[in-house]
Amino acid sequence: MNNPRPCILQIAIDTPLNAVFDYRWQCEPADRPHAGQLALVPFAHREVVGLIVGVAEQTDVPVDKLKDALAVRAQLSPLSPQWLALAGFAADYYQRPLGEVALPGLPKNLRVGTTVALDRAIKKLAKLAAPHDPAPADMPVLNASQQQAADAIGGAQGFQPTLLYGVTGSGKTEVYLQACAQVLAREAEGQILILVPEINLTPQLEANIRARFPGVMLATLHSSLSEGERMLHWLAAHQGKARIVLGTRLAILASLPQLKLIVIDEEHDPSYKQQEGLRYSARDLAVWRAWQLQIPIVLGSATPSLESWHHAQSGRYRKLELRERAVRNAVLPQVKLIDMERDKPTDGLTAALVAAIGQRLERGEQSLLFLNRRGYAPVICCESCGWVSECTRCTSFMVLHRPEHRLRCHHCSLEMRIPRHCPTCGNVDLQPLGRGTQRVEEGLQALFPEARVLRIDADSTRKKGSAQEAFDTVHRGEVDILIGTQMVAKGHDFKKLTLVGIMNPDTALFSQDYRASERLFAQLMQVAGRAGRAGIPSEVLIQTRYPQHPLYGAVVHHDYDHFASALLEEREQAALPPYLFQALLRAEARELATALEFLAMARDCLEHPGITINDPIPMTMTRVHNVDRAQLLVESPSRPALQAFLKEWMRALRDLKSRVKWSLEVDPLDI
Ligand code: ADP
Ligand code: ZN
Ligand code: ZN
Repeated sequence: MNNPRPCILQIAIDTPLNAVFDYRWQCEPADRPHAGQLALVPFAHREVVGLIVGVAEQTDVPVDKLKDALAVRAQLSPLSPQWLALAGFAADYYQRPLGEVALPGLPKNLRVGTTVALDRAIKKLAKLAAPHDPAPADMPVLNASQQQAADAIGGAQGFQPTLLYGVTGSGKTEVYLQACAQVLAREAEGQILILVPEINLTPQLEANIRARFPGVMLATLHSSLSEGERMLHWLAAHQGKARIVLGTRLAILASLPQLKLIVIDEEHDPSYKQQEGLRYSARDLAVWRAWQLQIPIVLGSATPSLESWHHAQSGRYRKLELRERAVRNAVLPQVKLIDMERDKPTDGLTAALVAAIGQRLERGEQSLLFLNRRGYAPVICCESCGWVSECTRCTSFMVLHRPEHRLRCHHCSLEMRIPRHCPTCGNVDLQPLGRGTQRVEEGLQALFPEARVLRIDADSTRKKGSAQEAFDTVHRGEVDILIGTQMVAKGHDFKKLTLVGIMNPDTALFSQDYRASERLFAQLMQVAGRAGRAGIPSEVLIQTRYPQHPLYGAVVHHDYDHFASALLEEREQAALPPYLFQALLRAEARELATALEFLAMARDCLEHPGITINDPIPMTMTRVHNVDRAQLLVESPSRPALQAFLKEWMRALRDLKSRVKWSLEVDPLDI
C-alpha cells in the first residue's frame, strides 16, 4: 500500500461532444482499474459518472489541463468487453457519441455521486441466495408444431435467428418457455433475455415465468420500476444471478454476462423503436447482440414486420410456423365487414355491431371495441362561424376530454377549460366533432345501461398500477364491454372475449406514409386475435366505407402470407425499405424557414455519390409547442454506403455554424 503510481483513465461521458476524456488516477499497480468500470470525475463544473473505456500510461492532454478522477466504483465488477462492444456498435450505427449511448443504458443510481444505493443493492443481493434449480414446474403438452419449434429454438447452436410465425393464440409463449427450459437445463450459468413491446404485457408473462421456473431468479427491466428496484434488477442481471431477464426495449442494453438466448415477442411492434433521444431499434440491436455472441435469437409474431419477413424469405432467418390455435377447439374468429354506406351508424355504431354486442351480453360473453383515438372528440367547433379548437402552439387540434372538463393538445399537453361560448362569435352551442373512446363509452353505457363498460386508454390508466388493475378486471370477467385504443390490441390473452368491433379504421387506408397499410393490417390482425382464444366461437366486425379494399379482404381471410408478399413486391418495385436504407435529418427552429435553410445547407455540404438526398420539407405536423420542424430524407440501396456517408456527414454537420437544433435518425419508421 505504499507504491501508488499514476495512470490515465480514458472515460466516456454522457455529453453530445463526440469524445472520450482522459483523467489521471493514482493507485497501486495491482489495483489498476479496467475498461468497463465506472468512475466519478469532474466535468464542466460538475461531478459526473463516466465509463472507463481504456487505461493508458500516457496522454496528449497537457499536465496543467489534466484533471484527477475522483473515485472508481471498484465494488461493481466491470461491464464485459461484449457489452462495451454492443454500446460501441449502437453508438456507431446510430451516429451518437459512445457516452450518450452507454451511460443512459445504466440505472440512474449508478450514475450519481454517491454509492449508497449501489452498496445497498449489492448487500441485498448477497443475502438473496440465488436459487438455481432450473427444473420447470409442470409443463403443458405441446402440440406437434409447437414441440418442433421449441426443440428447434431450444436446441439451436451459434447465431441462429428464427422467425416464429404463429397465428394469434397459437401458443408462442409456451414455445418460448419450453425453449427457455431447454437452454436453462443445458447451460449451467446461462441467461435468457425476453423482450416484450408493452409494459402492460410484462405482468402476465412475468407471472407465467415465475410459475414455470420457481427455482430461477427472474429480473424485470421496464420504465415503471422505481430507481431502487431498477438498480437491484439490473445488478442481478449484471452479476449473472438473474437467469431470466424480462423487459421492454430498454432492457436490450442490460448487462448479461452469460446471455445464451434472446426472445423478442411481437417483433413487428413499433414500440421496439425508441422515438426520442437515441432512436434505436431494440429488435435490430438484439439481432446484432445475438450475432456478436453467436447465440440463437427468436423473433415471434402473427404479423411479422416486412423486414423480418423479407429475411425469412431470403433464408437469412429460419422460419417456423404455427398455423393453428393451441387451445383445443379454439379457431380464429370469423371476420366480417360491415358496409357503413348501407348500415348507417348511429353514434358511430352500426346496427349490426350493436346487435352483436347485445347477443354477447345475453350470453355473458365479453366484447371489445377498438378505436385508436382517445378523448371524447378530436375537436370542437362552432357551427355558426366555423371556429375550431386549434392548439395555439401546434399544427393540431385541442381534443375534447369531457369527463375531465378540459380541452387538451395531445402533442404539447396544453390544457384549458372547455369554452362556454365561441371565442370568435360568442355562439354558445359548440359541438364536438368526431368521436374518441370517451364518447363511445358514453354511447354504449346509454345503449346498454345494465352492462359493465370499461375504457382502457392512456387517460384511464394514468395512475401507476391502474392499467394492471384494469386488465385484471377484464381477466376476472368483471367487464362486459371493453373499449380501448391500441393498448388493448396487443398480446393479451382474454379468455371470455368473443366479439371484437373495429370502429373506424379507414383513415389509415389513404395515408401518405407507405408503412400505414402494413401497420393497419398488423393492428387489425392483432386486435382480431384477442377474440375466441378459449375455444368459444367468436367474430370480428369491421365497420368500413370501403369493404372492397384488398387490405380488408386479407384480414377476412387471415391471410398474412399473401398480403405481406404483395406488399414486399410493391416495396421492391418502388425501391422502398427493406430494399432501401434511410436516414432522416430533422431540424427545429422558431421559424420554418430557418429549419429549411439549415437542411438545404446540410444537403449541399458534402459530395455524396451513391446516396440520394431528397429536398428539405416541413414535417407533416409542422409546429409542435411553438417550434417548427422540417426534415431531410437520405437514402441508399446499400447500408454500408449509407453508414459511411452518415459518418462523414455528421462531422460536416457539426462544423456547420447554425443555431438550429438538429438530430439524425437511422432507419426511421415515421417519415
Ligand atoms: P400467442 O402468443 O401465440 O398469441 P399464447 O401463447 O398467448 O398465444 O397462447 C394462447 C393460449 O393457448 C393460452 O391460453 C395458452 O395457455 C394456451 N396454450 C398454449 N399452448 C397450449 C397447449 N399446448 N395446449 C393447450 N393450451 C395451450
Ligand atoms: Zn363561432
Ligand atoms: Zn399543442
